[in-house]
Amino acid sequence: TGTTRTPLIAGNWKMNLDHLQAIAFVQKLAWSLKDARHDFDAVEVAVFPPFTDLRSVQTLISADKLPLKFGGQDLSAYDSGAYTGEISGAFLSALDCQYVIVGHSERRTLHNEGDDEVAAKVAAAIKHGLVPVLCVGETAEDLEKHGPSAVPVAQLKAALAGVKDGANIVVAYEPVWAIGSGQAATPEQAEQVAAQLRAVLVELIGQESAAATRILYGGSVKAANIAGFMRQPNVDGALVGGASLDLTEFSSIAQFQ
Ligand code: PGA
Repeated sequence: TGTTRTPLIAGNWKMNLDHLQAIAFVQKLAWSLKDARHDFDAVEVAVFPPFTDLRSVQTLISADKLPLKFGGQDLSAYDSGAYTGEISGAFLSALDCQYVIVGHSERRTLHNEGDDEVAAKVAAAIKHGLVPVLCVGETAEDLEKHGPSAVPVAQLKAALAGVKDGANIVVAYEPVWAIGSGQAATPEQAEQVAAQLRAVLVELIGQESAAATRILYGGSVKAANIAGFMRQPNVDGALVGGASLDLTEFSSIAQFQ
């Protein structure tokens, strides 16, 4: 199709770095990438800090005109109201977030988020002008029972059930067994599932949007293994957890080429 997808290197900080640490980290990350003459138009770099950091990160990025993107790690399926402890996509949008992670395996497991809730959150993100970074992935048990792509494909279909053709989304394939385990999938395994997810995206959001959608790999990505993933035709970036908290490591991941 000739579609070119801008790679996205995304750092999921999880529950790490308070707002003061976030300011220091983002400033150093921007300097480190500028020193390395990182081409931000060629490879997008985004951070996903805890909610309490977002205002500080927004202020820093806009004051210093830093070419970094940022987003939340989750959002509510609702717009506003009596939902103690929840954060609306409208609030994230008001803070200039461009992205929001939806359906991370830690949300699915630790907060019992099922496919319906994930689908409602994807819809809420889109409604508020955010690009959902939809996470899908199989557990070790799923892999053994159903093979590599059945569960991620089912999760993708469920999450995008209400989404229209042309939707702007990012998909992150994150095998649960690879997250935080130090045991990343092989580039070939990631490519196999990413290719299947893209084929399903054609049915769900149309050929053109499917071709334009970035599919990330996540799970124990490091500077030492990023290049192999980025060489795969259907892998367009990475969602990085642990290694996104190490400045040298994350900045090398962003400069994979
Ligand atoms: P990891 O986490 O890079 O520490 O494996 C990835 C993720 O959970 O997004």
